[in-house]
Amino acid sequence: MNKTCVCRYCGKVFTSWHERSCCNDCLKTEEEEFSKIENYLKRYPNSNAIQIAEGLEISPFNVVRFIDEGRLSIRKGEFKEIKGRKK
Ligand SMILES: [Zn+2]
Repeated sequence: MNKTCVCRYCGKVFTSWHERSCCNDCLKTEEEEFSKIENYLKRYPNSNAIQIAEGLEISPFNVVRFIDEGRLSIRKGEFKEIKGRKK
């Protein structure tokens, strides 16, 4: 069954047989963003999602999506800290 998805880059609504957060038009953008994050983590291995987003001037939400999708592994403790921050 097809699922309705919203592209995180251009906001386009599209359908896909599995849950996706990026439309076909933006796949290249996503790949570029992912390799930027990878390079950033090579330089600064202990960064959390917020630091990566600030360092690369991209949305922290996009960084978190890569983690949720299992494409990025950031140390769990740091990731939880961001999610649980309530002050
Ligand atoms: Zn798109």
